[in-house]
Order: sequence, then structure tokens, then C-alpha cells
Amino acid sequence: MTDGRWAALQAEMRACRACLEAGYDIEAGAIFSGPAPAPLMLIGQAPGITEAQVKRPFNASSGTRLFQWLARAGLEEDDFRRRYYMTAVTKCYPGKHPKGKGDRKPSTAEQKLCRPFLDREIELVRPRVILAVGGLAIETVLGRKIRLEEAVGHTFKVGGRLVLPLPHPSGASLWLNQPENQARLARALAILKDELLPLVEA
Ligand code: SF4
Repeated sequence: MTDGRWAALQAEMRACRACLEAGYDIEAGAIFSGPAPAPLMLIGQAPGITEAQVKRPFNASSGTRLFQWLARAGLEEDDFRRRYYMTAVTKCYPGKHPKGKGDRKPSTAEQKLCRPFLDREIELVRPRVILAVGGLAIETVLGRKIRLEEAVGHTFKVGGRLVLPLPHPSGASLWLNQPENQARLARALAILKDELLPLVEA
């Protein structure tokens, strides 16, 4: 990216304190990685505490599971991180869930505050394929409510881009305990390998 817009966006995201100023007890410091432009972009929900500490998306156990899935589609972690862009619906660690079950889901207000960054990232990264990981990312990218069962295992076209939903790889999610949902994930990874990666690499 030569026109300075990419560097400016990265600096703005890193300096952003909008959610803190709105009263949310986040750990400010936007987490994202990878080049722009990039043919593939992965969007998660929000970074976890480990991601915030090491400043790398999907760094901890969720990342281990995610990259195990992606390996089934022939993608290797280091290569993926080097070639593709990774971000989230909200880019700062939102803190623990008040009831102690994993991390807090970013509020609608935080999602709205961060949305212009996501739109600008997509505009500058110009991905052909988006992997939307977890319910919040899926609904954000598709722009509508949808059940995971109806999303995972299918592709969607949004703004001329192909979107592949994946479940969240968090250990707190019980969705994959159901064999039919494992089959949906397997279908999604087969689509990624056989249909989407050839487009990404074209
Ligand atoms: S989550 Fe987004 S909008 Fe909120 S402080 Fe971080 S970068 Fe800013």
C-alpha cells in the first residue's frame, strides 16, 4: 500500500481509545496482523487477553484450534499469518465475562464504535475471500442475524466477495459437540480447500 492510507489506518486503530472513553473497561490496543492488500481476510470477534499481551490475533488456545482446522484445508499457520490479513469485529480486548465464562462479548455500542475501522480495513485489504469466525463476525459480515447451523458449511456473496463462515474455535463453545455440526465444519473446510483457495491464489 503506497498511498499512506494503510499506515494512517493502522496508526489510528492503535491509538484508538473510543470504547474506554465511552465507559467500557477494555484493554485498549487494537490487535490485527498481516499485509494489505491481501486476497484473504479472517475476521474474529475480539482479541483475548493473550492476544492483547503478545499483540497477535488468535495466538492462544483458540488459535491452536483454528489453525488445526485450517490445516485440514491445506493452510499452514506461519504462511497464513504472513500472507493473509487477520482482524476482529472489535479490536481491543473486552475483558472477562462478568459471570466468569470466557471473555465478554463486545456490546452493540462497542461494535458500532469499531465498525468504521472494519469497513476501512476491508476497503484497503480488498480480500477476494473473507473467513468470518464465530457468530458475531458472521452476522457482522453478512449484515443479518443467522443461526450457525444455517451459516457454517455454506458460502455467501457480500459486496462481490465470498464469505465463508466458521464456528468460533473457543473451548467455551459447545456447538461442535454435536456430530452434525462437526459435519458442517468439515463441509466448510472442504469448500475452503476445493473452491475458495484456488480463487485466493488465482
Ligand atoms: S475496540 Fe475498536 S473502537 Fe473500541 S477502542 Fe478498540 S479500536 Fe477503538
